[in-house]
Parts: sequence; structure tokens; C-alpha cells
Amino acid sequence: MGVTKESVAEAKKLENGSAEDVFKWAFKTFGDKVKIASSFGAEDVVLIDIAARINPKVKVFTLDTGRLAQETYDVIDAVNKKYKIKTEFYCPDGKALEKASDELGPNFFYDSVDLRKKCCNLRKMEPLSRAMANLDAWICGLRKEQSVTRADIAKVEFFDGKPAKINPITEWTEQDVWDYIRVNDVPYNKLHDKGFPSIGCICCTRPVKRTEDVRAGRWWWESPESKECGLHKK
Ligand code: SF4
Repeated sequence: MGVTKESVAEAKKLENGSAEDVFKWAFKTFGDKVKIASSFGAEDVVLIDIAARINPKVKVFTLDTGRLAQETYDVIDAVNKKYKIKTEFYCPDGKALEKASDELGPNFFYDSVDLRKKCCNLRKMEPLSRAMANLDAWICGLRKEQSVTRADIAKVEFFDGKPAKINPITEWTEQDVWDYIRVNDVPYNKLHDKGFPSIGCICCTRPVKRTEDVRAGRWWWESPESKECGLHKK
């Protein structure tokens, strides 16, 4: 197990493979050193459903920023029960949050792009670094059509000295995702029924119109090129 020349060659061929092919390769290559990173949006629950059919012991983690919506906690519960898994929670460092709120107030992330990124670092990036500490790979639900910043993602991305990133559903459309959820009766985040195509911290996400970009509701007060929190920066 682990990354070898053969597994890298296999990964290249997966660009034309199905999501199931990608998961099978990931479990064969990384064993228990690969986990699904889930924010419990529509794509993520699809990933969990596909993965659990192949490997019922699949491991899932989430970054509980402390600013998630009740609907997100509800779907985590539903997914845990349906698939008999225990989603692992990674939370921000309490002391660091206290310090930031003392110094800058509770809503400092609205004040500038830099301060918003500071909040994402505290609430997401630092917990993510702990979640990834012993991993060789992580699995995400990124799709190419979600935004211009995701148009060139590959199904398997290798990085020097960092865990590989696996994106099994890069080519799926939004329709594909919802067809899968309905056909397979997958629990999903009820925020989607309220106009939220993209799930994140509730204070930084708002509903969008059908004609808007799916990530238009994230950090809506910022320009489009700023709209990543750092989790998926290369
Ligand atoms: Fe903070 Fe908003 Fe980023 Fe959540 S999305 S970590 S509340 S800035």
C-alpha cells in the first residue's frame, strides 16, 4: 500500500473512470490512511453513499467551525445513523478563537478579505491540518462546473510532502448529484431545499437564485476571485 509508480500510473487512467473506480483505487492504495472530508453538502453525502457500498468502514471527518447551521448537524446525524459511521469532528482552537473575538469582535470576518481569511484559517485551516496529520490522502466532492476556480481539477492530485487529494466526481453535473441522491434515498442537507446550493458557515452563506453561480452565496460580499476558503487551494 502507498503511492508507487504503478499506483500513479493507475491514477492517471482514472480520469476516464467512474467514481466507484476512484474509490476502489483509493482504498487499495491508501488503506485506512484515506478519509472523506465532508462539509455535508449534496456532493459529500453522495461520496459517503458510494464509499460505504465499497467499504463500510470508510472514515469521514468534518470541520465543525462552530458557525454551521442546525440543518448541517441534522444531516450529520442522519448520515451517521444510516451508514453506521461516526463522523470525526475537528473544531477550532478555543483559546485562539477567544483571542480573535476579544480583539476584533464576533463578526470580524465581514470587515475585509484578509480578516475573512484569518477567520477561515482559525476555524477551518488549523483544524484541517490536525485532521490531515496522519493521512496519506483525503477525498473531496469537488466538481469542475462548481466554479472557475475548480475547472481544471483532476480526479487524483499528488503534492510533494502532502496528502494526495482525490476528487471522484469531478465530471458530475449538479443534476447527476441530485439524481443520485433521489434514486438512492441519500440523506441530504435541508438547506438545499431553502436555496443554498453550497454549504458552509451559515453567517457566510446565503441562498442564491437559480440563475446565479452555485457558489455565489458564499462570501457574497467579496469579488468572485476571492471565493475559496483555502481548503482547496493548490
Ligand atoms: Fe469564518 Fe465565514 Fe470562513 Fe466560516 S466561512 S470560517 S465564519 S470566515
